[in-house]
Amino acid sequence: MRRKYLLVEALLISLAFIVAINSYAQEVPVNKVLIIGIDGCRPDALLAANTPNMDALWKNGSYTFKARTDEISSSGPAWSAMLTGVWHQKHNVMNNEYEDPDLEHYPHFFHRIRQEKPELQTYSVANWGPIHKILQEGDATFTSSKISDALVAEEVASILENKDVDVMFVQLDEVDGAGHRHDYTVESKKYLKAIERSDGQVGTMVSALEQRSAIKDENWLIILSADHGGSDFGHGKNIPEHTTVFYIASGKSAINGEIQQEVGVVDVAVTALYHLGIPAKEAWNLDGRVAGL
Ligand SMILES: [Zn+2]
Repeated sequence: MRRKYLLVEALLISLAFIVAINSYAQEVPVNKVLIIGIDGCRPDALLAANTPNMDALWKNGSYTFKARTDEISSSGPAWSAMLTGVWHQKHNVMNNEYEDPDLEHYPHFFHRIRQEKPELQTYSVANWGPIHKILQEGDATFTSSKISDALVAEEVASILENKDVDVMFVQLDEVDGAGHRHDYTVESKKYLKAIERSDGQVGTMVSALEQRSAIKDENWLIILSADHGGSDFGHGKNIPEHTTVFYIASGKSAINGEIQQEVGVVDVAVTALYHLGIPAKEAWNLDGRVAGL
């Protein structure tokens, strides 16, 4: 009799334990990050173009159209600022040649993730391949360079739908190409058209993310930004037309509305790390801050 009572009691306790674990899993979703960078996309052009997918992100998140990129507003220095969390004076990528980056002190944020939470799965898919030059052996779970933005979006969508991914960085390149050919202005129909094509690709990737089988147990932060703007068919100078970019942080953890603080592209890596439970350490000497959460 007593033995039977103990058995029932043990069963009830294990049942309660299982229920507790399940509700804990439901209450504490796993934080994940998707960063999409659109090369050479000016904020005023983003607003002028017809971009329903990107609009949905900033309208349901925090945003500023007055963020700043590196004063050397070229792809190498600017993407490196976004991905390391420090400006060119520290990461030392001075142009698109990547001659002497200071990876020892200012590595790619995937490197910090590998040190702090080695179990996280980090993916980087880009159209502009040199962006990966600041990744060191073992920093990333997976990297890929594609020859078109359409192929980037296709691969990213497939990874987001099928893989165990915690962090995804995506670079789309063709808006910058359109800027160089047709100029970076809201009057340039072909530049705006290129932004609208990127918007379709953003839509493809975000829908794939929403199709994930475990999406209800995940808390994705989507960050959207650009490496630089442009004018007169080029960029690279320290002038507002080249250094002003947008910054959008969207998801359950993001604040709703315009960000009032100054935001820089260096905030992207720091915000992503923070969302992953890796607050920046004093010793890392980063320039970025958490923005929009
Ligand atoms: Zn660029």
